[in-house]
Amino acid sequence: MLRKEKDRLLLILVFSLAGGIFKIAGGIIYHSKSVLVDALTSMANLASLVLILAFMKKSSMPPDENHHFGHVRLKFGGSIFTLMAYSFVAGIALMEVLSPKAYTVSLGAPVMAALGLICYLVAISLSKESRGGPLGYYATFTVSEVIEGITVIASSLTGAVYSYIFDYLGSIALTFYIFYELLKSFKDLTLKVSDIAPPLRIVEGIKKSFESRGLSVEELKMRYIDEKTLEGHMIIIMDKNNMEDFEEALSEAKREAKEKYNAEIFVEFDRKKDNVK
Ligand SMILES: [Zn+2]
Repeated sequence: MLRKEKDRLLLILVFSLAGGIFKIAGGIIYHSKSVLVDALTSMANLASLVLILAFMKKSSMPPDENHHFGHVRLKFGGSIFTLMAYSFVAGIALMEVLSPKAYTVSLGAPVMAALGLICYLVAISLSKESRGGPLGYYATFTVSEVIEGITVIASSLTGAVYSYIFDYLGSIALTFYIFYELLKSFKDLTLKVSDIAPPLRIVEGIKKSFESRGLSVEELKMRYIDEKTLEGHMIIIMDKNNMEDFEEALSEAKREAKEKYNAEIFVEFDRKKDNVK
């Protein structure tokens, strides 16, 4: 990582942390349950930023004794531990919501929530500048923090001015939202590690790369290794009469699959069957 990139990352961490601290203050010192639940998600969000970056770094390690195919899939470790962090705070939020005793919200709560939101907006705009990288991913991730931030400013403000009930309702809504997001993310992750095949268009495109070079593809099985990396297992009927052209066509087609679709194709050969054709 570049020096500038590292400084930016540090700034993002500092602003995210500051945002979380303002929210914790709003929740605990100024007695707002909705701001407290929001503070919990901010902490989980911060933990996920660190986790995602750590696993990203691990996933770029070259193959070794224990990981013959490289470490690409270690990337999912970041997502898995992020889900653990959010599940943990979801449990704490649920405990808060399940004790409906009357309380009084101070006006400091919406003020703290607003300060927290400002910190998050800075962090997001900083991470958006590094487009495409892992931080760009973090930026989209954190947009939900902004929605939550606006929600709890409204609920804690009405909670302080009118009745704690508004604040309490805000905390319930946010807790439901965490569980909803968790469910969505668990489903998404399960699908991603399930050896899911790419769209038919890609499978056909790769077949064409081989067939247009005179190779007869008997079978092609494909799966995603991570969000962007594909792996394919192919059976080709070998033509023994023209080995040189055959080998050249094969390596060209493989290169095209790699460049066009980021797909690594493993080829197995089958002998031409005499009874066919
Ligand atoms: Zn390893």
